Amino acid sequence: MTKIPMQPADSSPAVDTRINPSNSNSEQGAMQANSKTNLLGMSQAQLGEFFKQLGEKPFRATQVMKWIYQHGVTDFEQMTNLSKGLRDKLTQQACVEPPEVVHKEFSDDGTRKWVFKVAGGSLVETVLIPADDSKVNGRKTLCISSQVGCALDCSFCSTGKQGFERDLTAAEIIGQLWVANASYMQDTDNAEWQNEVTNVVMMGMGEPLLNYKPVVASMSLMLSDHAYGLSKRRVTLSTSGVVPKMYDLYKDIDVALAISLHAPNDELRNELVPINKKYPLSELITAAKAYVHDNNPRHKKHVTIEYVMLAGVNDSDEHAHQLVALLEDLPSKINLIPFNPFPHAPYERSSNNRIHAFSNILNNAGFVCTIRQTRGDDIDAACGQLVGQVADRTRRSAKWQQSIQQRQQQQLADQD
Ligand code: SF4
Repeated sequence: MTKIPMQPADSSPAVDTRINPSNSNSEQGAMQANSKTNLLGMSQAQLGEFFKQLGEKPFRATQVMKWIYQHGVTDFEQMTNLSKGLRDKLTQQACVEPPEVVHKEFSDDGTRKWVFKVAGGSLVETVLIPADDSKVNGRKTLCISSQVGCALDCSFCSTGKQGFERDLTAAEIIGQLWVANASYMQDTDNAEWQNEVTNVVMMGMGEPLLNYKPVVASMSLMLSDHAYGLSKRRVTLSTSGVVPKMYDLYKDIDVALAISLHAPNDELRNELVPINKKYPLSELITAAKAYVHDNNPRHKKHVTIEYVMLAGVNDSDEHAHQLVALLEDLPSKINLIPFNPFPHAPYERSSNNRIHAFSNILNNAGFVCTIRQTRGDDIDAACGQLVGQVADRTRRSAKWQQSIQQRQQQQLADQD
């Protein structure tokens, strides 16, 4: 693919000072676990350097990557194409350590959810959703978290209500995929390891573009032939619109892009997705167009537009027509997401009739528009229900709890 050099519409460095405030710590965190070096999440280059320091040839990196990601092996003794001396050295100095699973639930509809305890004591969630469509039989999509909590405070999102604690390390991000694949191995006695997850979406807790380096490092492992070898169209990053980092992403890695849009005009989006005040729709759509721009007509790239359906807020015919106009020149597929209410959420889900009427307007305008099926309701694994638990409660979380209490007190007073 020919890559077009891109320039951000706003090259102001303002956002970059906020991005990855803890990156250096995160990367160290990926490298060190219990004073041993954690090889999970390391790039091929980092692993090559690690083996060089052990006095070994760099090709050991690809051997070990295949053991970890393609055979699910964490015990160096089982890496039989390494010499006994190297296996002993690795056992003393290194480990392969995915994040700790503290809870897991497998739904009757095939959905699986894991709760991981990460360093610092916070909990993050990961959900796997199998396709319920014979046309894509066998598709299993894993929704991965990138941060503990989220700083962006979208008004319909339960993760946002918890505030932000920290970025996940590359080991904690790729470790979610490792554990999901391992769960299928554990299902069957004597099974050969087989990576069952076919698609990954960076769409769980957090804004992935605000944890840029570990997220890109993890997605590189997802694509690498020495690791998971997923096709670039099966790895999707979803952003709420961190525009400067969208331009970086285009240069650094070729993955599918989704945008959490949720509103067709700036006034409403400022309210639902507050980062819109910093990067308004005109800049976001320009960046999205640049991302999918490609001189080769055989490459049919598009952006997936995520649009949560909130009753009486963003779901009118007028909003649908505004969306048609906004996306006119952007190759896009639209995914309507029925809102999944969480306790004390200030919104309700649009009715099925309303969602279908909205969808019809988009379809009639020539867009491919799908309505996301709600899956995993019985284990709180539906979209927007990946809440996890931020250990260090932030001021935003305290404020949210306070507003709930005030609302409850008001309701009690109204009843008297
Ligand atoms: S929708 Fe995404 S970006 Fe917005 S607060 Fe929730 S996790 Fe953060």
